[in-house]
Amino acid sequence: MSEVRFGQGGIPDWLEPNVRFCSRCGTALQFGPIAGEERDRLSCPGCGFIFYVNPRLVVTTLPITESGEVMLIRRGIPPGYNMWAQPGGFLEIDETVRDAAIRETLEETGLYVEPVRIVGLYSRVQAAVVVVAYEARIVGGQPITTYESLETRPYAPDQIPWSEIAFETSVRALRDWLARVRPDLPLPDPSTIRRNFGA
Ligand SMILES: [Zn+2]
Repeated sequence: MSEVRFGQGGIPDWLEPNVRFCSRCGTALQFGPIAGEERDRLSCPGCGFIFYVNPRLVVTTLPITESGEVMLIRRGIPPGYNMWAQPGGFLEIDETVRDAAIRETLEETGLYVEPVRIVGLYSRVQAAVVVVAYEARIVGGQPITTYESLETRPYAPDQIPWSEIAFETSVRALRDWLARVRPDLPLPDPSTIRRNFGA
């Protein structure tokens, strides 16, 4: 199991190539102590700009059919190619979380949903994301396939393909949803939850 390394910039190794220069003046950023800040940060020696690097919010839904099945998509892009996940994506700067949940679900599944409740909020430090999962009622549309989603299909609560779920946060969200709607069913073994890539 590969653990993410936090390198010289205090941020994950995979993120470092993206934050090398000041976005204001183009000077190379430096990592170190800054007056008034409680931790070392990336900042610009040229203009003083402090470059804050924070996790991003990924907004997802568990779209539920009238008969209580959950719609999952078989991913057409990495990470997690050909594995199953719920629809979702990054929150855009000009939309609310609820609007993002509706938009991402429509884009990836062709389904119109109405978010009902938040199933959970999941930190994934390795991917620098926080994932919110809504339980959502399907109110229209027809399942589609796209280059991002090879297949969209419903799974009954006792048929969830745990070993083929792409992401750790997806397993956690599905597990928390299942524990509420079907407490009689067995939950996935905790040792099977970990994934070494993606969210
Ligand atoms: Zn600068």
